[in-house]
Amino acid sequence: MKIVVLDGYTLNPGDLDWKTLAAMGELSVHDRTEESLTAARIGDAEIVLTNKAPLSAETIRGCPKLRYIGVLATGYNIVDVAAAKSAGIVVTNIPTYGTDAVAQFAIALLLEVCHHVGHHAQSVRDGEWSRSPDWCYWHHPLIELAGKTMGVIGFGRIGQRTGGIARALGMRVLAYDEYPNPALEKEGFSYASLDRVLSESDVLSLHCPLTDKTRGMINRDSLSRMRDGAILINTSRGPLVDEAALAEALDAGKLRGAAVDVVSAEPIRPDNPLLRARNMLITPHIAWAPLESRVRLMDVAVENLRAFLAGSPRNTVS
Ligand code: NAD
Repeated sequence: MKIVVLDGYTLNPGDLDWKTLAAMGELSVHDRTEESLTAARIGDAEIVLTNKAPLSAETIRGCPKLRYIGVLATGYNIVDVAAAKSAGIVVTNIPTYGTDAVAQFAIALLLEVCHHVGHHAQSVRDGEWSRSPDWCYWHHPLIELAGKTMGVIGFGRIGQRTGGIARALGMRVLAYDEYPNPALEKEGFSYASLDRVLSESDVLSLHCPLTDKTRGMINRDSLSRMRDGAILINTSRGPLVDEAALAEALDAGKLRGAAVDVVSAEPIRPDNPLLRARNMLITPHIAWAPLESRVRLMDVAVENLRAFLAGSPRNTVS
């Protein structure tokens, strides 16, 4: 049985092992695959694993031996699932592997906006403290979070975990979700309308999936309804945010700062307006990537394939 990994590098840049998968069949691992090469690389393989390399209807039709597509991520929009289904191909994903890592990262971005640790540490290395006439200095306003309100849009696994850490920092948490879970209100979280979450939050953290409803939900209008001086954090998906509108809000001083791990097109384009916006921090989609999360992801990918081969597929998507 041939197994092809189309874009293994981001999951395993060298600190994990493919050996469990290699023991299951004849394994070829490619670091990355251009879409034009995908069908040729799959060839007569029955199993393909992909993280972000797309599998279109045309590619699927061009690979008649294919029986299984394992997506090495939660989001599976890169696969034409309908085409796979009509070809009798099973598609699986990894429903959860990085909840703690992504929540921790959302808070790391927020703390960076509040303290600019990286910037201040670099200024000390550059000799600025040694030259300082005073015993301390800071270049950005420093922000205490206790007593402030965090709004969370999308109060699922990652949103709840992020809200829990925010509460531990002394923040009040106000959540907006399409499907509120009343049991969580007993745990001290409050749900509110989107309008209230926008207008009452000092910090707004996005954790809903990208759908037709959520695309562009942070736009000129919603930004204008946010508190003056609020902070926006996005570790979910770039297209939730109208980036030109966010850049304007930052440059106008409407928002005090923003930090995002995801942008509308990745890798980021050199003309993305956020690259030049004031008080903007951008990281290269790394919230998911601590070793612990990637080990979990690899383990689930192997279990998914094992279950499929045993005749009882799990984590299938349709
Ligand atoms: P989840 O499914 O547990 O939670 C999503 C929540 O959003 C659910 O409670 C759902 O009801 C809610 N929701 C759906 N549509 C909504 C809408 N229109 N308005 C408000 N709420 C809505 O998912 P999760 O595991 O918490 O992951 C959340 C998102 O995090 C994922 O969709 C993904 O985009 C992102 N993510 C990012 C990284 C990263 O590395 N930056 C890694 C993993 C996940």
